[in-house]
Amino acid sequence: MKQTGKIGIHAFVFILLTILTQIGGVVYLMSFVFSKRIKLTFPLKGLAAFVIIYCLGTFVTTPLVAKLFNRQRIEHRHNLKPANYLTVLMNRNYVSSELNSYLLDVSKKLAESNDQVIMRYLDAGFPLLPGFPLLPHLSHNDGKKVDFSLVYENAKGEIVNSSKSVSGYGVFEGPKKGELNQHKACQTAGFSYYDLPKYLTLGSINGELHFSEKGTKDLMDALTQHPAVDKVFLEPHLKERLRLKNKKIRFQGCHSVRHDDHIHLQVK
Ligand SMILES: [Zn+2]
Repeated sequence: MKQTGKIGIHAFVFILLTILTQIGGVVYLMSFVFSKRIKLTFPLKGLAAFVIIYCLGTFVTTPLVAKLFNRQRIEHRHNLKPANYLTVLMNRNYVSSELNSYLLDVSKKLAESNDQVIMRYLDAGFPLLPGFPLLPHLSHNDGKKVDFSLVYENAKGEIVNSSKSVSGYGVFEGPKKGELNQHKACQTAGFSYYDLPKYLTLGSINGELHFSEKGTKDLMDALTQHPAVDKVFLEPHLKERLRLKNKKIRFQGCHSVRHDDHIHLQVK
């Protein structure tokens, strides 16, 4: 019984690490083998082995192997960065070479139109095995998709490149009075999980920041004017509020989750 319990815990950790980081589960197994081979005994030997192998895997081996699947890490620029560095540490920053080229083009374009806004990306895709979903985003499985944070400003109206939650998800810029309330419509139609991202915040932060209409509009314009873009998901009331006319900006449907906490983008 005791042995079964141990195996159950290891299986749970393996699955959790795989879901979160893709390579973490395999690294977990490898760390057992390596720590057994090291004759030296010291506290937290297993954890040390895990951290060393994980870092080597994340920063050395995986980027090389990912090339076999046409996956690259998002190339950073002064105005193209992760909203949270955990995205990089967890290998959730991989895209196809085509999406990487698109992002570099867009970041240059955005720097010309608004040099205050940083494109702060959230979840993109995993490095290995096409079709491997990046939960909780079922569609982020082909290197063609990436999410972005909305843009915020302080009370003086200055752009502040920060998020309103630790994860970058789940703090909504909901509809104002008189705006289309898609959230309510979806909930009424029985799609109770439409606002599921509210459970994914990992804590709300920067409560003093406000939604920046100009900053988000400039970002949306830069994202949608490029010919490689296929679709961008943004909640209808924000599309209306920002007076965005581009037909590539769409409502994702009630079967998905709401997009007034982040922007979803996919290329052709
Ligand atoms: Zn997405």
